[in-house]
Amino acid sequence: MERNNKKITIAIDGFSSSGKSTMAKVLARNIGYAYIDSGAMYRAITLFCIENALIDDSGNVNETELERRIGNVSISFEVNPSSGASEVCLDGRNVEGKIRGMRVSNLVSKVAALPFVRRAMVAQQQQMGASKGIVMDGRDIGTTVFPDAEMKVFVDASAETRAHRRYEELKQKGQIASYDEVYRNVCERDHLDMTRAESPLRKADDAYVLDNSDMTIAQQNAWLMCLYNKIINQ
Ligand code: C5P
Repeated sequence: MERNNKKITIAIDGFSSSGKSTMAKVLARNIGYAYIDSGAMYRAITLFCIENALIDDSGNVNETELERRIGNVSISFEVNPSSGASEVCLDGRNVEGKIRGMRVSNLVSKVAALPFVRRAMVAQQQQMGASKGIVMDGRDIGTTVFPDAEMKVFVDASAETRAHRRYEELKQKGQIASYDEVYRNVCERDHLDMTRAESPLRKADDAYVLDNSDMTIAQQNAWLMCLYNKIINQ
C-alpha cells in the first residue's frame, strides 16, 4: 500500500503486560514514528523516590518532598544503538535496566496515582507529541494525554495470560520473581490503575479494542498495521 505522508497521533492503552509496548514499538519502527513508553516515565519517577528515600515498602510517599523536587527531575529517552529501542533516562542516566524489576513494579501504581506526578508527566508527554508522528502507550493516553488522537487502541488480555508474559520476560532478563508474585502484582496494578481518582485506566469511547489473549505477536502486529493503514488512508 502506498505510504501516506500525513502524520497522526497513535495512543495505545491497556492493562499491565497486555503486550502494548511490544506492538507499539514495532508499529512505530515500521512507519517511522517516535515511540514513547509512558509507563517507563512513571517507573523512572518511582525509582527516583526509592533512590532518594521518598517512599517506603508499603508505598507511602513523602509527597511534600516529591512535589517540591519533581520539577527538577529530568526524564528523557535515548536510543540504544545496538537494539534501536528507546530507553528511559533519569537525570541523564540510563535506568532502563533498573525500572522493570519487582521493587519498582510493586510501588509504581502508588506513585502514578498522585495527581501532581500525573500532571508533571502528562505535560511532558503532550510536549513530546506536539508535532504528531508519535506512538505512545500507557493507561490514559487516549483519554487524557491525547484525547484528539486520530488512532486509539485499547489492549486487553486475561490476567493469567498477562502474568505469564511478564513472568517469562523477567525470567529471560535473569530477574528473580515467582509466577504467583507476578500474578498478584498484575492484579493489584490493574485495580489501582482503574480505581484511582486522577485519569483512571479506562477505554476511550472511540478506541478500537484488541483482546490478544489468543494471538501471536505476529498476528497482533498485523492487526495494528492494518488498522493504521485503514485510518491513515481515510
Ligand atoms: O506500562 P507499565 O506497566 O510499565 O506501567 C507501569 C505503571 O505506570 C502502571 O501500572 C500504571 O500504574 C502507571 N502508568 C500510568 N499511566 C500511564 C502509564 C503507566 O499510570 N500512562
